[in-house]
Amino acid sequence: MATYTPMIQQYLDIKAQYQDAFLFFRLGDFYEMFFDDAIKAAQELEITLTSRDGGAEERIPMCGVPYHSAQGYIEQLIAKGYKVAICEQVEDPKTAKGVVRREVVQLITPGTVMEGKRLLDKENNYLATLTAFEDGTYGFAYTDLSTGENRITLLSSFEDVMNEMYAIGTKEVVISSQLPEKWRQNMKERYDVTLSYEEEVILPEAFQPIACALEQEKLKITFARLVNYLIRTQKRSLDHMQPVQVYQVDQYMKIDLYSKRNLELTETIRAKGRKGSLLWLLDETVTAMGGRLLKQWLDRPLLDRRQIERRLNMVETLMNQYFERQELRTLLREVYDVERLAGRVAYGNVNARDFIQLKKSLQQIPALKDIVANLNNEDAQELASQLDPCTELVDLLERAIQDNPPLSVKEGNIIKDGYNETLDRFRDASRNGKSWIAQLESKERELTGIKSLKIGYNRVFGYYIEVTKANLHLLPKGRYERKQTLANAERFITQELKEKEALILEAEEKSMELEYELFVDIREQVKQFIPRLQTLAKTISQLDVLQCFATVSEERHYVKPCFSDNRELFIQDGRHPVVEKVLGSQVYVPNDCYMNKEREMLLITGPNMSGKSTYMRQIALTAIMAQIGCFVPAREAVLPIFDQVFTRIGAADDLISGQSTFMVEMLEARNAIVHATQNSLILFDEIGRGTSTYDGMALAQAIIEYIHNNIGAKTLFSTHYHELTVLEQSLHKLKNVHVSAVEEHGKVVFLHKIEDGPADQSYGIHVAELAELPHDLIVRAKEILAELEHRETSEMSTDTTTKKNEQFEQLSMFVEETSPKEPSLSKKEKEVIKSIQSLNLLDMTPLQALNKLYEIQKLL
Ligand code: ADP
Repeated sequence: MATYTPMIQQYLDIKAQYQDAFLFFRLGDFYEMFFDDAIKAAQELEITLTSRDGGAEERIPMCGVPYHSAQGYIEQLIAKGYKVAICEQVEDPKTAKGVVRREVVQLITPGTVMEGKRLLDKENNYLATLTAFEDGTYGFAYTDLSTGENRITLLSSFEDVMNEMYAIGTKEVVISSQLPEKWRQNMKERYDVTLSYEEEVILPEAFQPIACALEQEKLKITFARLVNYLIRTQKRSLDHMQPVQVYQVDQYMKIDLYSKRNLELTETIRAKGRKGSLLWLLDETVTAMGGRLLKQWLDRPLLDRRQIERRLNMVETLMNQYFERQELRTLLREVYDVERLAGRVAYGNVNARDFIQLKKSLQQIPALKDIVANLNNEDAQELASQLDPCTELVDLLERAIQDNPPLSVKEGNIIKDGYNETLDRFRDASRNGKSWIAQLESKERELTGIKSLKIGYNRVFGYYIEVTKANLHLLPKGRYERKQTLANAERFITQELKEKEALILEAEEKSMELEYELFVDIREQVKQFIPRLQTLAKTISQLDVLQCFATVSEERHYVKPCFSDNRELFIQDGRHPVVEKVLGSQVYVPNDCYMNKEREMLLITGPNMSGKSTYMRQIALTAIMAQIGCFVPAREAVLPIFDQVFTRIGAADDLISGQSTFMVEMLEARNAIVHATQNSLILFDEIGRGTSTYDGMALAQAIIEYIHNNIGAKTLFSTHYHELTVLEQSLHKLKNVHVSAVEEHGKVVFLHKIEDGPADQSYGIHVAELAELPHDLIVRAKEILAELEHRETSEMSTDTTTKKNEQFEQLSMFVEETSPKEPSLSKKEKEVIKSIQSLNLLDMTPLQALNKLYEIQKLL
């Protein structure tokens, strides 16, 4: 056993409690790391690895970061999913006996970041927790430590848990170490989240008031795990935690995570960024709080018609009252992140500049209130009444905090004159002292007759009187005490100067201390306002999102949607909002969509790149936009309220191997088929493409029939299997539509226009003709096509369900490299090939082989 120095022993004892974190061990002006932590940190942070003697034979690996620049390093580690335990000296090294006492004062984890660049203004940073119960249900809760928001729900499948995790974009999940390994693995693989452990599931007394909405034991347990984890790791006030809100996933339109990704609601598939997503298009919010709420709304479209219409009506009002909206935007721009400021007040990391921001924000509220009260809308009145200007708080901050305070809260210059008498006295003393010193120079010059005499100050020696060597003889004896000798001057101090100096320094030190005390006291007073500030923040963020919808809707000419009771859908001149923005509205071709009880499924055919998937997506995005309360990109829109949206749209997944693509395709199809109701919307783009023509088409048809006969969900199904268009004859709620194209000046031009009926089959040949393939070849192709069409119809007339024609590859005008090109073989020929393939030649005698050949020959 190695024997270490007491300090290293202390390090090891503390480290033992924080195995899964980097331990930042405070040593003077540095945070040091030792042993494996040091080796790993040196790599991750690209800092120098050194070593030190620790009492044992071998030197101990060590690396460190300066205390004042630690934040950046901590952020780097957190960004990589690590945790960092901050271990401080908790007693004064000067008075400590033996090794200075040290304690971990905070554990920083990906889900509990409170400051720094990782905390994006317009994004929540959620810490989630999961508890699996024996009956197969899951308690799921999440909190944003920076805002104090808490939400909780009970879920009935692990898939739902995954959906929720995707929706909130959590980076850390708190679980029990008893949670089955397969779930842990699953979460890590799919989300790359940091897993943290907490076993304590009894809610501490102090948190009962915010948990009173939790009646079910399961929810209590779930929430308690989260709270206990926060208490254990954060070790500080959590007074800003808001009452936990219970929600049910079926209160909202359900969009599974594949579909959210496919529809690019909050991030694009390829770039994984906001840009190009629906969120990016819609975001006209002007406050950080509004930006966060917009994302929350987009993640949870509503089902309750009244609630949706209330939002829409507010948007309409704001659209009509243009000047009020502009004024509203101007005022909101002056509002800082009140919600996070409130969090920092409770958490104790607020500074005086934050208080100035808070004051400025609150000063906007009276004018804001006026504007909102003047809107012609009942709900606006209610919102106005929730705009609490917190006048007492503004007064306090106005009286107490200087207008341009420094960042540091311990170096003075924070509190205004006149706020506190004692502070004023200290300040007077120091100011008087300083002006006395300023006058001293001329006094001393007069007294000594030395014109070049100077009074100066430096940090080491304090105040001094400087006399050049040439003039030294003029100085009277006795009064001047020598302090420092320079090359050609001497510096002196007098008793009087010494006394004044002491007075000034003492007054300055005391006033700094007092200022900090006063600051802390103000912070405590502000704490009392946290619930009011949080309510205010909520109202502001709602107003911001509503004005955002109005602004986008006006700018992009969106229309207020209506809702139908009979599941009818009618969109006139609908557009894909993002594609329209990117292409420009002059280029974008609007399309209609009409669906009702007799027209429940649309089978969309048309060449590749003609706009099929854009059309399907625009229907889904229109429905989602309507249900979050925004106007929609159309001339007119009547929509049912959809309970769920499912999509299977070929996208980035397709870049992975063929096999897994097809599996993903089938999983997504299954998800829709199992969960969809007649109130759902299903988008299937080219289902069955991932396998051979034959069974792909069979599957596609079976899926269509199943949805048609058993579910009755509104379904848009695009396909290149032209053969499927005959289904219109047997499935009475299915209708064919196609994307049109024309030939213009010898080129095929996609019109991107959706029209009734199946697509013209001869597109491929047409394009080949335009590409000037030999004339004979084109003629031959036309012959073959005619023959195929003929065969198809004759097969159809005998048996519609066996109308499979593997020779007719696809309608696509661009032959896909991945599509299997099978030679045209008859059924018999295929059988022959199969039987030859199945022979085990090594086991056969020449005679047996000959017999087999004979058999085969007979077959043909
Ligand atoms: P498909 O699904 O038929 O292969 P896409 O829907 O992916 O085709 O559309 C291909 C491209 O055509 C899009 O990237 C877009 O630029 C353009 N496009 C699609 N729909 C329209 C439209 N309605 N108006 C103008 N351009 C469109």
